[in-house]
Amino acid sequence: MYTTQMDAARKGIITDEMKIVAKKERKSEQEIMGLIAEGKVIIPANKNHKSLDAEGIGEGLRTKINVNLGISKDCCDFDIEMSKVKKAIELKVEAIMDLSSYGKTQEFRRQLVNVSPAMIGTVPVYDAVGFYDKELKDITAKEFLDVVEKHADDGVDFMTIHAGINKETARRFKENKRLTNIVSRGGSLMFAWMELTGNENPFYEYYNEVLEILAKYDVAISLGDALRPGSINDSTDASQIEELIVLGELTKKAWEKNVQVMIEGPGHMAINEIAANMVLEKRLCHGAPFYVLGPIVTDVAPGYDHITSAIGGAIAAANGADFLCYVTPAEHLRLPDLDDMKEGIIASKIAAHAADIAKGIKGAREWDYEMSEARKNLDWNKMFDLAIDSEKPRKYRESSMPEDEDTCTMCGKMCAVRNTNKVLKGESISIL
Ligand code: SF4
Repeated sequence: MYTTQMDAARKGIITDEMKIVAKKERKSEQEIMGLIAEGKVIIPANKNHKSLDAEGIGEGLRTKINVNLGISKDCCDFDIEMSKVKKAIELKVEAIMDLSSYGKTQEFRRQLVNVSPAMIGTVPVYDAVGFYDKELKDITAKEFLDVVEKHADDGVDFMTIHAGINKETARRFKENKRLTNIVSRGGSLMFAWMELTGNENPFYEYYNEVLEILAKYDVAISLGDALRPGSINDSTDASQIEELIVLGELTKKAWEKNVQVMIEGPGHMAINEIAANMVLEKRLCHGAPFYVLGPIVTDVAPGYDHITSAIGGAIAAANGADFLCYVTPAEHLRLPDLDDMKEGIIASKIAAHAADIAKGIKGAREWDYEMSEARKNLDWNKMFDLAIDSEKPRKYRESSMPEDEDTCTMCGKMCAVRNTNKVLKGESISIL
């Protein structure tokens, strides 16, 4: 009948996943199908991911967020990473990227796919080194592709593939000096592999084979930005734009095989460059959804990069980005713990929702209206229920209760909300 969601859409078939997404987005099934056919919306939904609650990413849809986790050589506690998975699911993130690079990666990945209604993404090149237990330069092109197939068979919904850093983009990168070189982990591995072996990037050279694997399982390709800027000094430079042009060409090739595509983006970037970058991506990549990793708008706030990236993410999404990768306060410093993860998720959710209001997404403003109404009515429980994070505001209030329970300890009996409500009802007030 059909191979991928894109194939189905182009044949005029409305899949179960399209129905779910249409309902969630308050759009017609026909509209969702049309956007998928054009490549402007994707539904990453691997045929082997049975617990998935499908979500769409792209134009006109709610901005989605992703959480990164996974076991690494320095932090390889399986159970701690699984408790992060549980927390991320509780907090209703739409996507989880498993960046595991050490130990029982397949066991972790399979367990994740089994329990997660959120879509699952991976970066197969991270896993390749640990899986083959070989030096990077000794891994063959075929072995890289075999890891892609393994992840696809395990039920991964989208994969970051750094196919845009080919020999030509690598040449341009070397000729146009940057302050922070390459900061993408997968990108740096691909660059190193090409330099050490003298060969073309296997994901670029054997791109058709990669697409065939992805189409077989209906895995969406997330075209990785190996040359994303790692400092605001390097943004919108020759390397970043050269790679983006290649990613645009690779997008069209993927669409020829009905593989759904999204494009990964910056990175670090000053606020004044963000809107133009969103236009550039949509233009050069033919309207494919944009997945931004930040952007972090200043480099001087380690420990607070959930804030620097939420500022950038909100501006990016308001200007067309569709999917935000969360950033935690631990960014640039260590593997995030459970608290870091929660802070990062909430910051990204705030950015995504703020952008959805600006984009005019159905239902976004109504949420704020309800909250403001509860605030006007001093209905504290309703405020907590409606909050992006119910836990923190509840704790704050309980830690400092006012004399008059309608109010809070900020202004007490001078509470502007309470007093104005009373005066408008013709009642008298006492502020002593
Ligand atoms: S006391 Fe002040 S801060 Fe608290 S609810 Fe009333 S107006 Fe708002």
